[in-house]
Amino acid sequence: MGDRFAHQGNAQLKACVLATKLGADIIPVWNKSNREHTLIGTEPSHLRAEADAAVKALGWEKPYHVDADHIRLETADRFIAPSDFFTIDVADSIGKSAATKSVKAFVDHHPELLGKVVIPHINHPLETTHAEVERVANKFLLAVQDAGKIYRHIARAKGEANFITEVSLDETDSPQTPPELLVILAALADEKIPVQTVAPKFTGRFNKGVDYVGDLKQFEQEFNDDLAVIAFAVKQYGLPATLKLSVHSGSDKFSLYAPIRRALKKFNAGLHLKTAGTTWLEEVIGLAEAGGDGLALAKEIYADALAHIDELCAPYAAVIDIDRKKLPAKETVNGWTSEQFVSALRHDQKNKAFNPSFRQLLHVGFKIAAMKGDRYLNALKQHEAVVAKNVTENLFERHLKPLLLGK
Ligand SMILES: [Zn+2]
Repeated sequence: MGDRFAHQGNAQLKACVLATKLGADIIPVWNKSNREHTLIGTEPSHLRAEADAAVKALGWEKPYHVDADHIRLETADRFIAPSDFFTIDVADSIGKSAATKSVKAFVDHHPELLGKVVIPHINHPLETTHAEVERVANKFLLAVQDAGKIYRHIARAKGEANFITEVSLDETDSPQTPPELLVILAALADEKIPVQTVAPKFTGRFNKGVDYVGDLKQFEQEFNDDLAVIAFAVKQYGLPATLKLSVHSGSDKFSLYAPIRRALKKFNAGLHLKTAGTTWLEEVIGLAEAGGDGLALAKEIYADALAHIDELCAPYAAVIDIDRKKLPAKETVNGWTSEQFVSALRHDQKNKAFNPSFRQLLHVGFKIAAMKGDRYLNALKQHEAVVAKNVTENLFERHLKPLLLGK
């Protein structure tokens, strides 16, 4: 769960409480990336304070974590004290060759990766040649070595047993295939990183705040094969038994939740699903629903976002698909009722007025709200009840229920 403005911790945790009561097994993880902290002007310690306060307020007794999301060596330090979960992002090093010597050492050290590799639950044995393992090692070994450097930096400061390690490879151009994931896991084990969640880039588009776009059959096959590879690698390389797949930009991928649920059941596996920005959109929905000055502020945020569309979209180009022709003019939106605004924004695929382009623009528009400073935060406080209701309902009804309870 991500919470850009740090006001929805209780409402988010309430969704976990509701799902737990119905039998779901959840460990809440609050995440915030260095990029979000920088854009909004918050510190990682604020997220820790928020998580602790929510846990106390709701009497949550199971584990929970605070995730330093997408950090690298140069950004890790301010996260070390307040975080107990680290998403080490090494996507930038993918494709840059490691030293020839270390590639050769890796291939020599892993004869089990050559030839026919039989992995339970993958129908066809993987057939790999020496050249193929070398190619994959060349592509990913430097990234894994970087992950090792960052992991050891955190471990020295924090103590090895005091945090959970995720390695993320998702913010790159091409998806990683299941055989590539196997090589990556072997290399992570060599690097002695006790990785507990790994975020590959999956096939298809994971646009921010909207449904998956891609071949569902292919995704399901790949997701199942990835789970098979993980189960195999845990045994083969002694990686932590808690190793899970992590799905980034995982909010609102409604068409994936049933296939993911089926696969998790089949493998008795866990999952880390990151759902950050969907909560900020529920804040805007809550403000719009409140009417009056809340609705006026929501309209103002849209108008400003539209005026700054290029700069807002630039950092997210790979993870949004906005059809600019479908964006209503600011004058049109200014004439909308609460219901019209909410219908366009809320992710209800059955509602004909739902507008994915409108939603994606507001998704990347949180910087506009951040620039409004106290005016925005005070509006959240003033309309807390209606905002919180939307935040909880979104996570509980549209995310946790279909994913974990099959409802
Ligand atoms: Zn990510």
